[in-house]
Amino acid sequence: MGKSALGYIVLVGMTTVLFFLALWESFDLHGLSFLSVAGITILLTLLVEEIREFVSVVLPTGREARWDRTDAYNFLFVFFGAIVTFLLSSSIAGLDFGPVLIPSAVVASSVVGIAMALVKPAYAVPAFCGSFAGMACTETYSHLSLILAAGAAGLVYVLSKYVFDGFGGKLGTIAFSGCVAATLLTHRIFPAGSIPGWEVGRYLVLVSVLAALITYILSTRLKLNVVFSSAIVGLTAGVLLPLISAEHGSNLAVMAFCASFAGMSARRRVVNEAYMAVAGLICALIFIYSAPHLGGAGGKLGTIAFGSSIAVFGLYRGAVFAGKKVLPKKLLVRPAVRKERCMLCGNCVRVCPAHVLERIDDAIVVTDVRKCTKCLKCIRVCEQEAIELRRGAPEKFAAIELSAE
Ligand code: SF4
Ligand code: SF4
Repeated sequence: MGKSALGYIVLVGMTTVLFFLALWESFDLHGLSFLSVAGITILLTLLVEEIREFVSVVLPTGREARWDRTDAYNFLFVFFGAIVTFLLSSSIAGLDFGPVLIPSAVVASSVVGIAMALVKPAYAVPAFCGSFAGMACTETYSHLSLILAAGAAGLVYVLSKYVFDGFGGKLGTIAFSGCVAATLLTHRIFPAGSIPGWEVGRYLVLVSVLAALITYILSTRLKLNVVFSSAIVGLTAGVLLPLISAEHGSNLAVMAFCASFAGMSARRRVVNEAYMAVAGLICALIFIYSAPHLGGAGGKLGTIAFGSSIAVFGLYRGAVFAGKKVLPKKLLVRPAVRKERCMLCGNCVRVCPAHVLERIDDAIVVTDVRKCTKCLKCIRVCEQEAIELRRGAPEKFAAIELSAE
């Protein structure tokens, strides 16, 4: 079995179990309600996209089993990111802020993320990943179990580097797998939380949607470092929200940090702000209903964001597919190449199974949009993020993004 397959199994296992547990709680509380039906839809969409990732990415990359020096560096940055965050979180938890309850783990992880994005951006991603493992509950985890969690997370990081590329929350899921493994190995118990009522839940939803959108806009529109974008949202929420509300501020800050991970998604995965708002909404629902399960393990927030981002990508693909069935051809969604971003590498032309894309002089041209199968391979392969799906007749390509529907 290739290393990508192992990484895939770990990420899928963690995410699916957490989402299933949240759905279970929703059923238990509300029976067959609107929320439960929405939960089933989210879970099924997640499962479909997980299978699709296996077929389209894991099977082709399963042979890439070589290990290189970068893997070793990544492992070390994950490992030390976890240790530094855990120690910093313990120190912050020991400070006296009076009645204000500062979420020490959120602040510690954010500080590590910001510092790495500014000082060593090349390794900010693995260090930020490790910092999520370091968010493990300082009362539950001993130094030994944290070291185990950090090592396991470093290993999963290396194993999963080719899978689920571009989905926000992947780093947290990696950290979560390490923490869960360490918890089971050291026979510790996950502290159980309680499901908040809707008097708090509505604020959780609001904060989640806002945090996801702000992070997404910072990283995709303003082109800030993606780790920095999430960490600055986490730090701001971790300091300000407890000052605004002594009772719920800490929990709201944790929610904001969770949703900021979904906001780290690339535009080829969460295509615009409307879909990102949906991702923020799903984050809040899973955050609320998974509260009784797997608490105290670092990375749980990222796992919530990861599943939400994948589900939203699935919903987007479903919307594109449905549009193809019911819309007149001239209104179909179609690929459009942004010339100012294109480096003319030709990758999209090579992967397009329908031979829709062609290089003509100094431009990539969409030749016959009616042949396009919406497989999205061209979008996935374009490192410049130069290809978008747009709706409108071919001659009106300047058109309408999906958000304007
Ligand atoms: S993959 Fe992207 S950058 Fe490369 S030719 Fe296609 S559109 Fe241009
Ligand atoms: S979506 Fe698929 S079929 Fe359409 S242009 Fe891109 S690669 Fe080709």
